[in-house]
Amino acid sequence: MQPLEAAGTELSGRMSSVSVRSWPGAAALLCLGLFVALCLSPERAGAVERSLRGELKRVLVLHSFGREFRPWSEYARDIKAELERQSPWPLDIQEHALLTARFNNPGPEAPFVEYLHSLYQGAMPDIVLSIGAPAARFVQRYRDRLFPHTPLILSAVEHRLINRADLGDNDVVVAIRNDFVAAFDNILQVLPDTKSVAVVIGASPLEKFWLEEVKRELKSFGERVELVWYSDLSFEEILKRASKLPPHTVLFWGLMSVDAAGVVHESDIALRSLHAVANAPIFSYQEPFFGNSTVGGPMHLIADTSSRTVTAALGVLGGAKPASIHYEPIGFAAPRYDWRELQRWGISESRLPPGSQILFREPNIWVRYRWQMLMIAAVFLVQAGLISGLLHERRRRHVAEVESRQRLTELAHVNRYSTVGELTTSIAHELNQPLGSILTNAETAELMLKASSPDINEIRQILADIRRDDQRASEVIRRLRSVLRKTPFEVKDIELNDTVREAIGLVKAVADGRRITLIYMPVLAHLHVKGDPVQLQQVVLNLIINAMDAISDADTGKREVSVSTLRAGNQAEIRITDTGPGIAASDLANVFDPFFTTKPQGMGMGLAIARTIIEAHHGAIVAANQLSGGALFTIRLPITR
Ligand code: ADP
Repeated sequence: MQPLEAAGTELSGRMSSVSVRSWPGAAALLCLGLFVALCLSPERAGAVERSLRGELKRVLVLHSFGREFRPWSEYARDIKAELERQSPWPLDIQEHALLTARFNNPGPEAPFVEYLHSLYQGAMPDIVLSIGAPAARFVQRYRDRLFPHTPLILSAVEHRLINRADLGDNDVVVAIRNDFVAAFDNILQVLPDTKSVAVVIGASPLEKFWLEEVKRELKSFGERVELVWYSDLSFEEILKRASKLPPHTVLFWGLMSVDAAGVVHESDIALRSLHAVANAPIFSYQEPFFGNSTVGGPMHLIADTSSRTVTAALGVLGGAKPASIHYEPIGFAAPRYDWRELQRWGISESRLPPGSQILFREPNIWVRYRWQMLMIAAVFLVQAGLISGLLHERRRRHVAEVESRQRLTELAHVNRYSTVGELTTSIAHELNQPLGSILTNAETAELMLKASSPDINEIRQILADIRRDDQRASEVIRRLRSVLRKTPFEVKDIELNDTVREAIGLVKAVADGRRITLIYMPVLAHLHVKGDPVQLQQVVLNLIINAMDAISDADTGKREVSVSTLRAGNQAEIRITDTGPGIAASDLANVFDPFFTTKPQGMGMGLAIARTIIEAHHGAIVAANQLSGGALFTIRLPITR
């Protein structure tokens, strides 16, 4: 017995030894091949070259139902393609289809047999290749009449359907073995909640055979799941039912060549239409049905059958004895699953048996848009870098702001001392007045008490005056202490009219002393702003003192400083005007600069501090000259409500 692989090796060995030994012949062949290759297409040139190398081999392929019936059509297609590719001889593949396999009551086969007989009489094929069980049976039955000496390869046939009694020395069997128990085990493995399986198998004689086989093999499954048989339904009815299946049902696709209504279903169109309407997953055990409609599992692979068939065919064509070629029936390959179906039916990959292969996985967004994603990631990284840089800057700025506010508070405090220093006369005057009155009133009361019948009412009146004057003096001290208090910058809700009024109270006496009329005209509405009242008072004080400084003692004209508040949109305004000479046009831009002063004793820090305070309150301060003469300072602060 010569093993097939050895026969193949011997064959190729023979081929190469011929080409090495006959160099002149090979050179001529090469030249001719080159010429042909230049004139013809590459495929045609290859075929011509092969036909020049050896005799033509004739292969008769016999299909069971027709050329386009799955799963056999896919086996036949692959076998033919591989034969063409691997054959060292030119091939003449002739195909015939056994249409009678479709019918339950086939008419006489004799005319078809006669047709083949007359076709091949005197020109026998070198090999007959049957695809599927009906074709295998046919050639076995009519071989004596049709191809008595031609080697026979029975391919893509389930081992139960082979008529072993009629097998002879000239036959090779490439059989498969269906294992419905394994197929159903797979269903329950991936979908353990399955309660019912609807089995789709057609009504041709071959399908009827399989229906009985499936029923027999799955007897034990009847206890685990309900089995529903669609074999006596038309395909139209099957589609209807498949669209309304109850939950936890799956469809098992066996075969559908001819339905119960006698309608023939070619190709995989039937399976596709079932897939389109079914509300349940479809399982099958054939690779030809896998890839568009079924979930997957253990299955027959086309390549397993076709590679053995092709090896056997080439071996026999090369002279190997068919009886020497023997194969065990091919079982299911390792399970394969369609990723898209797993997703659709929510089947977790963890449920798949070990060693499973998942196909048709859709590339994820990272694979599909790799460059775009990389670009976006890069942009994100740059952006993240910028953001963290900005955040860092912001933090630094915040720290700097806190520090500068602290400095400002300290500076403002010092500045308040110097302002209050200027107010000493005024303060002394304000304290002296009530204290003097208290003394006078006390002396008067003393004298009145020495009288024989003192006027009690008068004395009561005097005591009330003493109390009022005492309160006045206390108020002066309270204001002074509040201005000189060293407090951190503290923002609170304040009413601006009151804050300004309090500041004016502090300088009123100074104005009186300098014979300056200090007018206050608050707006008749509340001006609520957020701010530190002590610091805002300090600004107002500074501006009023500057305004009074601008009016020289010698000036005999109108001596007036006017303070007013008003509301302009969302802003509160404080305006301070005077009747002095105004600010020189060239100085207008500099008056807020630190250390800018035109006064001999001036420090030039008052307005610089004022501006810093107002800006810390998110406001603005501007200096201008009035048309009528004198300076105008305007403070604007945002109103909160
Ligand atoms: P200082 O009062 O110590 O000079 P300021 O910063 O308070 O410092 O004022 C800066 C300068 O602005 C003053 O020296 C003065 O020239 C000018 N100035 C401020 N207010 C007025 C005003 N109402 N009229 C004219 N000039 C003014």
